[in-house]
Amino acid sequence: MNLTFTDRVALVTGAGRGIGKAIAEELAREGVKVICVSKSESSCGGAAEAIRASGGNAVARAVDVSDGAAVAQAAEELLKEHGKIDILVNNAGITRDTLLMRMKDEDWHDVIRTNLDSCFYWTRALTTAMGRNRWGRVINISSVVGQMGNAGQANYAAAKAGMLGFTKTVAREFAKRGITANAVCPGFIETDMTSVLDEKTKEVIVQQVPLRRLGKVEDISRLVTYLSSEESGYITGQTFTVDGGMVM
Ligand code: NAP
Repeated sequence: MNLTFTDRVALVTGAGRGIGKAIAEELAREGVKVICVSKSESSCGGAAEAIRASGGNAVARAVDVSDGAAVAQAAEELLKEHGKIDILVNNAGITRDTLLMRMKDEDWHDVIRTNLDSCFYWTRALTTAMGRNRWGRVINISSVVGQMGNAGQANYAAAKAGMLGFTKTVAREFAKRGITANAVCPGFIETDMTSVLDEKTKEVIVQQVPLRRLGKVEDISRLVTYLSSEESGYITGQTFTVDGGMVM
C-alpha cells in the first residue's frame, strides 16, 4: 500500500535512539520533514544527520520533554520556523524500575513527568495550530505494561495507562478539527531500554510471546507511519498493541 503524505511536518520525541529514531527515519523516507527531539543534542543531532545523509529532510532540537516551560518555548519557536507541525509522535520515555515498597518519590515523579506530563505539554502546545489547518495526527507510544501492569514498574505502568485515557480524550476533543489521536502499545522491543535485561530474563519474556521473538523497532515504526498518513483518517481514539500476541 502506498501511503499519502502531502507536504507534512512531523515532530518525534525521543527520536535520538530506538523506536523514536526508527519512526523518524521511516517518516522521512515517506517524504515527511521530521523534527527530531531528544534530551541530548548529540543524540537527536546524530539522528537528524543520518536522515539527511540518506536524502531525507530532518532537523534536530534538544528539549527536556519533562519541562513544561521548555516544551512550550520549543513548540512556539518550531512552529514559527517550520510554519506548521502536522504529526506529533509522543515517544520519549524512561524507566526507573523497582518494587513499590522501595520506590522513591523521585523514581515516581521522574517517570510520570517524562512519560506522561510530556504528552500533555506537547499535545497542548501543538493541537491549536493543527486545528487551524483542520488536519493533525497525535500518536502516543504507550506500552503493554500500561494495559497489564508489571511488577517493579508501578510508576511506568501508571504513566503508560494514563497515556491511554489521555489519547481517547484528545481524540474526542479534537475530532471536529480534523485531528486524530491514537496510542500504540509495544511489547518488548529490542532497544537500549531493553538491552539492560539479562539473557535469562529475555528468554522468559520470549516464552510469553506467542510469536516467540522480541519485537524490532520497525514493527512499531511501520504502524506509526500508517497512523500518520492520510489513509488512517477514519481511525481515532484507538489503542494498538504490537507485542507478538502477548496481550490478547
Ligand atoms: P530508548 O532507546 O531508551 O530511547 C529513549 C529516547 O527518549 C531517547 O532518544 C531519549 O533521549 C529520549 N528521552 C528520554 N528522556 C527524555 C527527556 N526528558 N526529554 C527528551 N527526550 C528524552 O527507548 P525506546 O526503547 O526506543 O522506547 C521508546 C518509547 O517506547 C518509550 O516511551 C518507551 O516507554 C516505549 N516502549 C518501549 C518498549 C521497549 O521494549 N523498548 C516497550 C514498550 C514501550 P536521548 O537519546 O537524548 O537520551
